[in-house]
Amino acid sequence: MATSGSYRNGNYKGGALKFDRTLSLNSSLKSASSSTTSSSSSVKSKPPSTASGLRRSSPAALGGSTGAASKDDSSVQGRVRVAVRLRPRNAEELVADADFADCVELQPELKRLKLRKNNWDSDTYEFDEVLTEFASQKRVYEVVAKPVVESVLEGYNGTVMAYGQTGTGKTYTLGRLGDEDTAARGIMVRAMEDILADISLEFDSVSVSYLQLYMETIQDLLDAANDNISILEEPKTGEVSVPGATVVEIRDQQSFIELLRFGEAHRFAANTKLNTESSRSHAILMVYVKKSVKGRDSSLSNENGTNSHIVKNSKPPIVRKGKLVVVDLAGSERIDKSGSEGHTLEEAKSINLSLSALGKCINALAENSIHVPVRDSKLTRLLRDSFGGTARTSLVVTIGPSPRHRGETTSTIMFGQRAMKVENMLKIKEEFDYKSLSRRLDIQLDKLIAEHERQQKAFQDEIERITKEAQQRISQAENNYGDALEKERLKYQKDYMESIKKLEEQFMINQRKHGNEKLNIAGRNGSLDKMSSEQVPSAVAVEELAEVKKLLQTEALLRKAAEEEINNLKSELSRSKRSEEAGNAEIIKLRKMLEDEVHQKEKLEKEIALLQSQLFQLSFEADETRRQLDREGPGKFTSGVDSLMSQVSHLRSGDNGTEDKASMVKLFEQVGLQKILSLLESDDADVRIHAVKVVANLAAEEANQQKIVEVGGLTSLLMLLRSSDDETVHRVAAGAIANLAMNETNQELIMDQGGISLLSMTAANAEDPQTLRMVAGAIANLCGNDKLQMKLRAEGGIKALLGMVRCGHPDVLAQVARGIANFAKCESRASTQGTKSRKSLLIEDGALAWIVQNANNEASPIRRHIELALCHLAQHEVNAKDMISGGALWELVRISRDCSREDIRTLAHRTLTSSPTFLSELRRLRIDY
Ligand code: ADP
Ligand code: MG
Repeated sequence: MATSGSYRNGNYKGGALKFDRTLSLNSSLKSASSSTTSSSSSVKSKPPSTASGLRRSSPAALGGSTGAASKDDSSVQGRVRVAVRLRPRNAEELVADADFADCVELQPELKRLKLRKNNWDSDTYEFDEVLTEFASQKRVYEVVAKPVVESVLEGYNGTVMAYGQTGTGKTYTLGRLGDEDTAARGIMVRAMEDILADISLEFDSVSVSYLQLYMETIQDLLDAANDNISILEEPKTGEVSVPGATVVEIRDQQSFIELLRFGEAHRFAANTKLNTESSRSHAILMVYVKKSVKGRDSSLSNENGTNSHIVKNSKPPIVRKGKLVVVDLAGSERIDKSGSEGHTLEEAKSINLSLSALGKCINALAENSIHVPVRDSKLTRLLRDSFGGTARTSLVVTIGPSPRHRGETTSTIMFGQRAMKVENMLKIKEEFDYKSLSRRLDIQLDKLIAEHERQQKAFQDEIERITKEAQQRISQAENNYGDALEKERLKYQKDYMESIKKLEEQFMINQRKHGNEKLNIAGRNGSLDKMSSEQVPSAVAVEELAEVKKLLQTEALLRKAAEEEINNLKSELSRSKRSEEAGNAEIIKLRKMLEDEVHQKEKLEKEIALLQSQLFQLSFEADETRRQLDREGPGKFTSGVDSLMSQVSHLRSGDNGTEDKASMVKLFEQVGLQKILSLLESDDADVRIHAVKVVANLAAEEANQQKIVEVGGLTSLLMLLRSSDDETVHRVAAGAIANLAMNETNQELIMDQGGISLLSMTAANAEDPQTLRMVAGAIANLCGNDKLQMKLRAEGGIKALLGMVRCGHPDVLAQVARGIANFAKCESRASTQGTKSRKSLLIEDGALAWIVQNANNEASPIRRHIELALCHLAQHEVNAKDMISGGALWELVRISRDCSREDIRTLAHRTLTSSPTFLSELRRLRIDY
């Protein structure tokens, strides 16, 4: 068992939970007729008359029907109902009183009790219920307590109290827990069962306090430390409460039983400590039931409601608050026997005080006394509502069967009889649940406040917005007004100033006129000069004035017109000036544009020429390549040029093989050779190179050669050899000259224009074998001209040829060999014709050594030309000795024997055999030939 104060049953609320006591209301009257249940008899509205005697009650008085008041009454009359219960004989009594009859005889069906006075006489008492020693606990509960519990559930206060001598079964009746035997459960346990079964744990509540009253002190049985609880009486209503008591909410039966057990244990412990026993104290169980009956739905309604909901919900839910007080009184014997059984006087007095006071009160109530000494004791104060109050009260008086306690039993029966006369006015404790209403209204109020705040904010915002807008409009209007005012002011000021000016002008004119008139008048009328100005006739003056005014006006108009004219002219002038300037600017601009255009045109022309020259070159190269492929043959000079040109063209990217010759010719004709030749003198080196290449390509074509020479192409090419420092130009020009030099006429022209010396000079300076090859080719061609032999040799042609062998390139050597062969052929021809008798110039210029050296050159173009040259030289007898000394004889012999070409072999043989010098030498050398 839990210790006091720490007791918890899951719903324990400790001392803080105080039962809410409010005013009881007289409304909602409920009939109390249902309060009688299984009891066969009902409480009469009037208690049995005391006049019927103490000893004999009036059965008739008790036999009436229920005394429920009319339904319209605000309260219901409810007499205190009293049942008597007889305890069975206990073991001791069974033995000790074995020979004696019980002191009482019960007639339960008549609800009568006979108290034996002696063997023949007895007093009969009627009770509301007479419960024999065989009455079950269930029946006792149903008869005594159940109607009270039902009333409590309906909102009334109720009291169940046991009165009797110690050991007669008060505690048995009220407080048995029925742990071992369910059937033994007492009123407290059964009452709670019924209450819990009836209420809704969700909406209702039941809570309890458990107190002990001992020696006028109220102790808390649920809290040991709480040992002096005071009683509080509501002055207005007389409602009694014990605010200091622990109140525990009960949610289930078991926790209640535990609580009772805890309280009983505490009671036992407290009594042990006080060296007393439970019979000396009163135990009081308070059960507070709070049950909502009406408006339960409204109290549950959702709280998001609108105002209409609020109105509807402002009706508070109705709750009924019933209080059941179960009182297990101290033993009634204490009243009579106090002090006689070793109790202190003080104790006896105290115990007696509460019980005596109760008795006195009940007496007073039974007698309908004006004064009921309720305040005499704490017990009567606590039970104020139970007797003569608003509670439904049921009293069970317990008696024992033993005749030895007849006195006590009698006294108990008499107490019960008196109690039966006590009339209570039952009042329902129904009230509005303002707390829950208040809670609900608080929530709604909060919502409204919040909403109000929101609306207020929105309102203020709107006000602010409108105010701002209005202020803006006002300031705008003010600005507009100010502007307008200022404009008006300025306008009026201007008008005013103009008026003033006009007036001043008028005044001046008047003044002037006035002065003039005076003078005129003075001049015209000398006789009048003596007259004062005032005396001049005013009519004349006025007339004159008008005239002058008119004139002046006319003048002013004219002047104005003139001024306007001037202005017009001025503006016209400035306009024309502006347009002239614009025209000039335009002209300058156009001029510049024109210059740009010219410049652009020149540039484009140049580009076109360049492109065309490139085009020609490429076309030409293509054509030549094709031709070369067609007539491939060794020793042909043109192939050399072609090769060169193709090399040149390779330097430039492009597809030259597909060029159409016809289109090339066409373009050539369109541009004109003259133009191309003129480009040879261009300042632009690139242009020069391209031009010379084009000319060279053209010169490779026999058909063009004459035309090229005619328009001065040869001269230009020779000039290039002289003037240009560019090796490429030299190479290409030499190639072109070489091609042109194939023609006899051209050969003469070349010679005439100092071609040999130019070619010699070029050869001397050239490094590139191709340049040397071109130069050598050109000279070789010249070497083939019979008429030019002497001149060629004289101008160093042969030396130049021999000089070029230094480079060792086979192509160059082949051209040199060809030149020597050509020269030798011409000499041989001249000697045959008898025009030449001198030794060969070749031999004179020292060519023989090189000829002999290369006579068996592995390169066939060289070897063939040398073989031919040797044959030609050998044909002239004057050369024989030199040739023999130079070692040429051996070469001729070899040629005549080994040369692959038959014609050369034959020629060599014939030459050898026709020369006496060679033959003699061969013989001398014993060579069989
Ligand atoms: P009281 O509280 O009045 O002093 P108790 O309730 O303690 O008396 O009862 C005294 C004894 O009598 C207990 O042992 C109890 O069990 C027994 N007793 C009382 N009433 C009855 C009854 N109706 N039936 C059987 N035993 C009873
Ligand atoms: Mg007891």
